[in-house]
Amino acid sequence: MANIKKIAVLTSGGDAPGMNACVRAVVRTAIYDGIAVFGIYGGYEGLINGEIMPLNRRSVSNLIQKGGTFLKTSRSETFLHVAGRKRAADVLKEWEINGLVVIGGDGSFRGAHTLHQEQNVNVVGIPGTIDNDIYGTDLTIGYDTAVMTALDSIDKIRDTAASHDRLFIVEVMGRHAGFIALEVGICGGAEEILVPEVHLSLDDLGNLIKTWATTGKTSSLIVVAEGDELGNAHEIAKTLQSQFHANCHVCILGHTQRGGSPTATDRLLASRLGYHAVQALENGQTDIMVGWANNAATFIPLPETWEKKKPLDAELLKIYRILSA
Ligand code: ADP
Repeated sequence: MANIKKIAVLTSGGDAPGMNACVRAVVRTAIYDGIAVFGIYGGYEGLINGEIMPLNRRSVSNLIQKGGTFLKTSRSETFLHVAGRKRAADVLKEWEINGLVVIGGDGSFRGAHTLHQEQNVNVVGIPGTIDNDIYGTDLTIGYDTAVMTALDSIDKIRDTAASHDRLFIVEVMGRHAGFIALEVGICGGAEEILVPEVHLSLDDLGNLIKTWATTGKTSSLIVVAEGDELGNAHEIAKTLQSQFHANCHVCILGHTQRGGSPTATDRLLASRLGYHAVQALENGQTDIMVGWANNAATFIPLPETWEKKKPLDAELLKIYRILSA
């Protein structure tokens, strides 16, 4: 067992629904185990500026159901430099904090890893990002909520697409990964799903659209991840119109996918990972991410979380066209 007496928690990078539930779990687990716990406001930037407050059980009351992060989050340029990280480590020392829980995505994990390597700070990461693109965990906190939010919109778009016999291109979040697009596309019955991980030419897409009319389809949906190689939804629509005379309507779901009350799945995940992160620090583990895979906690060295690539579900990629034909 490590001699962990005081820990701190921060949220960093893009916000994700369920971050509050996770902070709550970290705070209450720590207090249960007799560890003092501090909240850092505004991610790494707040750490550098010493924006730290002691938290108690009541500090995290009435938060489990709330989207966003009450600790606030940020992107910190200063933390990208050694001097910034040295200042961050000094602040932790001043407060006698010897364990840091970082809730965020791969950028935040890179920062946590460097802080450990360079400044010898004990760090544990928890995956909080709607993109789900972190290796070593089946799900990231916020992903399930983002999928449900996008799906709700897609169902509504389908109503209008069907009423007007229209082709809609719906852009969902995912700059480098197609997890949201694939799951939302399958669940929303999309005719085509465009993701960064799979190559499909515009000619292929144009030909697919032509075949839909021959099978009696009068309306259709294409779901595209924002980072797809064919470009964003507006660019794709423009090309399809000019080259294939396809009359496309575009809907970009945007930041609605980041907000909202977390789903039960996200609250459960956040609660579990918050609990295990504190346990991991107490057990002397550091420079790791706590994840959840095959119904058990996982403890993955931080660099693996971005060096290894989590694949999309190959079966879903294979079957969506069969199911929507
Ligand atoms: P996310 O955690 O959601 O991927 P970012 O990529 O914006 O979000 O990362 C959040 C913050 O983590 C950055 O603003 C920066 O302060 C820190 N960070 C990101 N990459 C690194 C890195 N390679 N080294 C040190 N700190 C980093």
